[in-house]
Amino acid sequence: MSARILIVEDEPAIAELLAITLSRHGHTPLLAADAAGAERLLANQSVDLALVDWMLPGMSGLELVRRLRREEVTRTLPVIMLTARGEESDVISGLDAGADDYVGKPFSPRELMSRINALLRRSGVGDESVVTIANLSIDFDAHRAYVDGEPLTLGQRDFQLLGFLASHPERVYSRGQLLDHVWGRTTDIEERTVDVHILRLRKALKPGGADSLIQTVRGAGYRLAVN
Ligand code: CA
Repeated sequence: MSARILIVEDEPAIAELLAITLSRHGHTPLLAADAAGAERLLANQSVDLALVDWMLPGMSGLELVRRLRREEVTRTLPVIMLTARGEESDVISGLDAGADDYVGKPFSPRELMSRINALLRRSGVGDESVVTIANLSIDFDAHRAYVDGEPLTLGQRDFQLLGFLASHPERVYSRGQLLDHVWGRTTDIEERTVDVHILRLRKALKPGGADSLIQTVRGAGYRLAVN
């Protein structure tokens, strides 16, 4: 999938690095050095996704995202915030302002690209319904998962759990959060249930060696790693 991606970043070296990374992956980068430039560009061009730096001269990236969410045309524009501010409260205010995801600086190009591709897919940009991570691929339309092209036999809930983790690569989710997202908030299922499903998933992924993609983060929960 090829997308037009707006980069709102005032530091030329970082903007250029982002533009090169995006171009290498087949996307078209569009550059704005501040919020006003971004709004001018968005008024005239179609954009599939925006990367917005938090710290911008003049209007902050946070305020820009708030404004985008108030405008009819950009209300649903997928936005990833770039932030050097790793504080959880900052991340929360970024997401509250309407950002869909965030990537910390300095960013790894691999992580950035997997975030972008996951968000594009979630946002329905392009027609790609298949997510591929290492030798694992998940076809959301067909509701099937494959390792090295071999279909896996997965229960409905196991598929949903795998699909959720693969749609948010590298992000750590607690058992409670996974219950919320995959089972639904009203559930009174015990958190141990998540462990049982993770165990089953790893077992299903093991013959192809893809079980190592699902990582346990001690004291925190689980994540699906991109490498
Ligand atoms: Ca900046």
